Amino acid sequence: MAWDFRYESAKVIAELLEEQGFSLSKKFGQNFLLSKHAVHTIVDALKVAPNSRLWEIGPGIGALTIELLRQDLQVTAFEIDHGFCRILRERAFKDEPNFLLVEGDFLKTWNDIHVAQGTPAAICGNLPYNVGSICIAKLLEAQCLPAVMVFTLQTEVADRLMAKAGSKQYAPLSILSSIDYSVTKLCSIPSSQFFPPPRVESTVVQFQLLSQPKVEPERRKDFLTLVDDMFTQRRKTVRNNLLAGSMGKLFGKEQILAALDNAEIDHSARAEMLDIPVLLRLLGALNL
Ligand code: SAM
Repeated sequence: MAWDFRYESAKVIAELLEEQGFSLSKKFGQNFLLSKHAVHTIVDALKVAPNSRLWEIGPGIGALTIELLRQDLQVTAFEIDHGFCRILRERAFKDEPNFLLVEGDFLKTWNDIHVAQGTPAAICGNLPYNVGSICIAKLLEAQCLPAVMVFTLQTEVADRLMAKAGSKQYAPLSILSSIDYSVTKLCSIPSSQFFPPPRVESTVVQFQLLSQPKVEPERRKDFLTLVDDMFTQRRKTVRNNLLAGSMGKLFGKEQILAALDNAEIDHSARAEMLDIPVLLRLLGALNL
């Protein structure tokens, strides 16, 4: 590969940005990863065979992309910043046949690429802090489920993804991600390993596809509606959230209260106490 760029040097990155007249956007979470060790941890965790199709969200100027291409992977990269796109297209990976750049907002572009390419073998990215959880939720909701995904995320978002019932971080996103994946922490990356350093700490997480989803496909839609209802207001009891939500409207008070009893759920419990098997029991008690 002709592009020989020192991605680990903040000074070299700053010089490139200055030469190109770029200013970094906080809105797009533009913090470049300097740590080679972190890059290798991400690439190693992807465990995909050479020639596999992989998506990278937010390549920036290519710190991770270059290692992915060195592994002989076919990389489809989604980048919103037109200036970075120009560098990727005209300099970094100009003559690289395995590099396909999709210019624009991932949230708007990914669906067409999914239709054209199908689900990739893996997805990775050092995700922009503000849109990281939305990108992951969209993929899971649309059932775009590669065997493995590895993301660098704001630690708070990573904790929510990995949270178990009973913890403060447990949220609809924790449930959504654990239906299809086992999500584990690979490492933390201190702010000093980015240029410019963000205010928040980062965590690298690996998603590994389960051999079977925890919710049967035909019950998934109702299950997610139930979860949405349960978490409408975190401080409210399960009973009150359910009665006020779409399930309450569908079934009425008597049936909801009877279903809670049949599923052996305390009416005053909070949604964050209930794991997937208990939620499935409640769904079953509603004959869904
Ligand atoms: N991958 C590079 C690295 O690790 O050095 C850059 C990571 S930086 C945290 C996030 C990247 O995502 C930036 O290049 C930013 O422009 C891009 N980005 C932000 N929002 C995006 C979106 N909605 N769709 C595609 N790319 C986005």
